[in-house]
Amino acid sequence: MAEVIVGIDLGTTNSEIAAFVDGNVQVLATAGEQIMPSVVGLAADGALLVGTSARNQYALYPERTIKSIKREMGTDHKVTLGDRTYSPPEISAMILRTLKTRAEAVLGTEVRKAVITVPAYFSDAQRQATRDAGQIAGLEVVRILNEPTAAALAYGEDRHGARTILVYDLGGGTFDVSLVYVEGEITEVLASHGNNRLGGDDFDQLLLDFVHDRFVRSGGVDVRTNPRAMSRLLRAVEEAKKRLSFEPFTRIREEHIADRDGLPVHLDQEVTRTEYENLIRPLLEGTLDSVHRALTDAGKRPEDVNEILLVGGATRTPLVSALLEEKTGLTPRQELHPDLCVAFGAGVLAARVSGHDIERVLVDISPYSFGPSYFGLLNGMPSEHCYRPIIVRNTPLPISRTETYLTMVDNQQGWQVSIYQGDDPYALNNILVGRFSVEGFSKVPAGNEILCRMDLDLDGILRVTATEKRTGLSKHITIEGATTAMSEAAVAAAQQQMQALFGQDVEAGTEEGEWNLDTEDELDELDELDELEGEAEAAEAQAGSTPGEPKDADRDRRVQISEARALLERSRRLLDSMNNDDREEAIGLHERIENALNTPDPKRLHTAMTELADLLFYVEEK
Ligand code: AMP
Repeated sequence: MAEVIVGIDLGTTNSEIAAFVDGNVQVLATAGEQIMPSVVGLAADGALLVGTSARNQYALYPERTIKSIKREMGTDHKVTLGDRTYSPPEISAMILRTLKTRAEAVLGTEVRKAVITVPAYFSDAQRQATRDAGQIAGLEVVRILNEPTAAALAYGEDRHGARTILVYDLGGGTFDVSLVYVEGEITEVLASHGNNRLGGDDFDQLLLDFVHDRFVRSGGVDVRTNPRAMSRLLRAVEEAKKRLSFEPFTRIREEHIADRDGLPVHLDQEVTRTEYENLIRPLLEGTLDSVHRALTDAGKRPEDVNEILLVGGATRTPLVSALLEEKTGLTPRQELHPDLCVAFGAGVLAARVSGHDIERVLVDISPYSFGPSYFGLLNGMPSEHCYRPIIVRNTPLPISRTETYLTMVDNQQGWQVSIYQGDDPYALNNILVGRFSVEGFSKVPAGNEILCRMDLDLDGILRVTATEKRTGLSKHITIEGATTAMSEAAVAAAQQQMQALFGQDVEAGTEEGEWNLDTEDELDELDELDELEGEAEAAEAQAGSTPGEPKDADRDRRVQISEARALLERSRRLLDSMNNDDREEAIGLHERIENALNTPDPKRLHTAMTELADLLFYVEEK
């Protein structure tokens, strides 16, 4: 039997341990948890705490809790715990020891050897301190592996020839980007850049300030000097931030967060992904400078990069991939959980050293994309067969994601939801996998928000739920075997059937229009579009050119202008029903939107529109 060697990602915020089990590398779990906080503490009774329990007591007993010890590795710094002082390797050893014990429980055998990962920028002293930590924990460190190289290993060997891989790693408290060169067995870090004081914790802080300020402004209580309340709020915003990676908005509810005049005060707020992304955008844009510098240091251009790998929990924020894609034109890979990917890579090397043949890590991913069709713009023309996936292929399973759609017409009563499998923006070129309708929406003007949630589990069971946001009215469908491949003949037959079915609907004209929905970021006022398109065509005709498909930027701008006008109209209709404060705020926002409409700055317009949309949501809720 080959000897057991484990792979360990000893992270600043979290750590994981991987091993070769049942023919594949797996990140081991204890009580269902694969991720262990890299936090060490002493309980009130003097017991040593490592992991989640230590992290949980940090806010209340910071003097008895140590986190982010990785930052001190290789220094002479000492930390105090109880009545003793410890060196950084000694504290790291407590984390390693806990991981080792957990692995032994899962594997049922003693673990004596490990591969441990370190950041590419770690100095010799920091690497030696990591080896020392291993030794103190009773582990022989057979290899110290650079984290970006580990990520490249985890993503496997289906690569041919030489590849330049950009590894973008954004964790809880550190950010780094590396360029890794891979050719066969050779891997080399060409350049590395970053900021070891930037990460998801900063995003939590920004969101905390935002939520707290809004709480105070809306008549809440300032709880800044109340550590217990602040720690609850910090936990709540971190959870909210994570949900926003999969949902377009979320609610933060903290009962009895404070007292006023002897009465409990509750915090209850909705935060949208857009609000959150606006808060963190400047920080993420800063990380792109590091990408640029790493490329320059390695003497590479963006077009030399063959793939981008995302590492670190904070890269789950969709804006991260969106910005990277914008900058490089490459879609970052996401088949592996970003917070487990380095541990997987360490596990791959560990398995190889102990003689196992590992080509690539196998995890369950969705082989297909899934989403509903909606009414929107296809090549600049309105179409009821627009399609954009909610679950994108190669996403690790299980997965849940939600998107918001808007009703197209006033008093729209329902939505016939058609679910497709595929990636083509024209829904009918994909495979219809299910259909259901939800009826009984509120009689309200167009723009009613309908949520479509998709849950896909490891058994390929896809559950699709459509919910009217304002009332919670919802309906769902369950589709079995969604991830099973259909035969080519079955696909062709299904497509033909669909063409026939939808061909009729298209001919039939507007009757079906009642059922259509628009995505939030596309046009929802078709009349306006017609008008605008008419204008554009007239202008182009005057200029003597043939009208063609509008350029993307033009189209986006026109969509945005049209949305802004619809929003203003909706808001004006509601002015009478608002209280004085809300009305004043709304009028101020109308002015900002009108001003922004006269400037070519889409961001300014977007920000003002988001604020007004939020206000209207609250007004309508009241
Ligand atoms: P790591 O250091 O790689 O374990 O990353 C930890 C950071 O990732 C923390 O700031 C987490 O709050 C953040 N994180 C974890 N899951 C998510 C998620 N779903 N969306 C956004 N951030 C996340």
